[in-house]
Amino acid sequence: MLEAKAITVRYGAREAVAGVTLSAELGLLTAIIGPNGAGKSTLMRALNGAKELSGGEILLDGKPLREFARRAVGRRIAVVAQESELRFPVTVMEFVLGGRYAWASTGAWGWETERDIEAAKRALFETELTDFAARLVSELSGGERQRVVLARALATEASILLLDEPTANLDLAHQAAMLSLVRERCDKRGASAVVVTHDVNLAAAFADRVLLIKGGRTLAAGAPREVLKPDTLRELFDIQVLVDEHPVTGAPRITPVLKHQERR
Ligand code: ADP
Repeated sequence: MLEAKAITVRYGAREAVAGVTLSAELGLLTAIIGPNGAGKSTLMRALNGAKELSGGEILLDGKPLREFARRAVGRRIAVVAQESELRFPVTVMEFVLGGRYAWASTGAWGWETERDIEAAKRALFETELTDFAARLVSELSGGERQRVVLARALATEASILLLDEPTANLDLAHQAAMLSLVRERCDKRGASAVVVTHDVNLAAAFADRVLLIKGGRTLAAGAPREVLKPDTLRELFDIQVLVDEHPVTGAPRITPVLKHQERR
């Protein structure tokens, strides 16, 4: 379990995250939603130990995150960062297998074991990339590349998944398919996930908890039904939204009401 307690993160004098509390608990998927510049990516970087805190603390399985060696963190936490550039001429299989590196007992070339290869193959299968295994990552479409990055994270078999906009470039079917995979990791394989998304309806459909952040601060946190309300969303995004119930799932359904659509 990963717990962030009242964490504050700065870039020089600028406070990007201010007193945010969040925990990634077994089986739970938490969605983070907020406008551009709200501090979401910074929060994700702090959760993985990649950005130093200037206040608060982060505990991994009850112990301060900063006391863990990088590789020990890598075995427990898998990250999908925003806009990973994959310019290196490596194949999809090599790249996904790279996610297993934190498990390697030696730093030498050819470190991977049967188990590593199995985990990589499985992740490729789950992300519908089996046929892409021999392709170069530098020659894929944006959406394919995004699935490759998710496959690498899944191949780690880490129990905590930190995903920064993992569905931003995906088509409608793949958005749902990829979040279903993450949901399944949480439900059946003892994982927990924190997912940054701009898609409030995907969050409503897949998340157990939603954290709304604005200006680095928590605006609201709780179950989608408690948090995704018109007043709160208006405060968050400064737009009017309609919230009703999804006719099939009963989850909150959010529809923006655009200025030109408002009734006079
Ligand atoms: P989000 O992911 O919600 O769009 P970010 O975490 O990227 O927001 O950014 C939060 C704030 O921190 C913004 O004001 C942004 O301009 C600032 N920021 C982000 N990265 C840096 C950086 N490397 N140096 C200085 N300021 C940064």
